[in-house]
Amino acid sequence: MDRRELLLGAVAAGLTGAGAPALSQVVASAKLEDRTLSILSDGAFEMPRSMLAREVAGDVIAQATKGTGPITNVLNVTCMRQGDKVVMFDCGSGANFLAGAGKLAASLEFAGIAPDSVTHVLFTHLHPDHFWGALDDFDTPLFPNATWIADRREVAFWTAPQVYEKLPEDRHAFAAGAQRVIKTLGDALVQKDAGSEWLAGIAAFDTAGHTPGHVSFEIADPGGPVFVLGDALTHPIASFAHPEWRPASDFDADRAVATRKRLLDRAAAEQARIIGYHLEGGIGRVERAGGAYRFVAGA
Ligand SMILES: [Zn+2]
Repeated sequence: MDRRELLLGAVAAGLTGAGAPALSQVVASAKLEDRTLSILSDGAFEMPRSMLAREVAGDVIAQATKGTGPITNVLNVTCMRQGDKVVMFDCGSGANFLAGAGKLAASLEFAGIAPDSVTHVLFTHLHPDHFWGALDDFDTPLFPNATWIADRREVAFWTAPQVYEKLPEDRHAFAAGAQRVIKTLGDALVQKDAGSEWLAGIAAFDTAGHTPGHVSFEIADPGGPVFVLGDALTHPIASFAHPEWRPASDFDADRAVATRKRLLDRAAAEQARIIGYHLEGGIGRVERAGGAYRFVAGA
């Protein structure tokens, strides 16, 4: 597949580049005991609001989410610095996905983080907006010195010959793109299992559903844990007030619902700080509200 076919695949999946070019920037930052977290923007894209919930009427979705028309999905890439270690959590969309995305390189420059200083990249999952940015405009790894780490189940899913039978036609480009990036990274891409520390003080835990091998990360800190959630919670209202909704972008919708409920319960109980890849504001906490939850942005 070439660049044009990949792009058409994204458009077929209902996604479009956000109207105004997103400003490359640092969205938020947080100081931990001996680590700094910076949330960098990779831009944004738009998606039909109806994708927030299968089998829910449009007017019900509009009322619950306080809006009509497409929703803007911001893209938040977390960078953790600790001594010589520079760890990225996912790495944006790159040049082949959508016009409004692929701004990570500019945001890194703005934040003064040199690509060759990045030591590790940990992936929540291998969707285009999280994974394709591993390659730069010349199709070489964006971070030349990094070790890239992904979940073993996730790599197995996207590289299996049967992957095309398991995906709707409009998502075939996602698989072709993932395979291309995996192949280019080669031996620099290491596979690990959920339920273990992938780096000292950073544990990966299973949050499958959105994709078959989706993981989230727990960064230990005396001030309480920080969870880097990828796409386990994707919308600042819907994912919290209606964790039972089944977004169109979740591969296994029922499993994703169970994951979301478990995660919200745990984050609220532990008063964890959470970072969502698509959550406006980037970092915040989960509070119980009525029978469900709400997202409170702010470090
Ligand atoms: Zn995503």
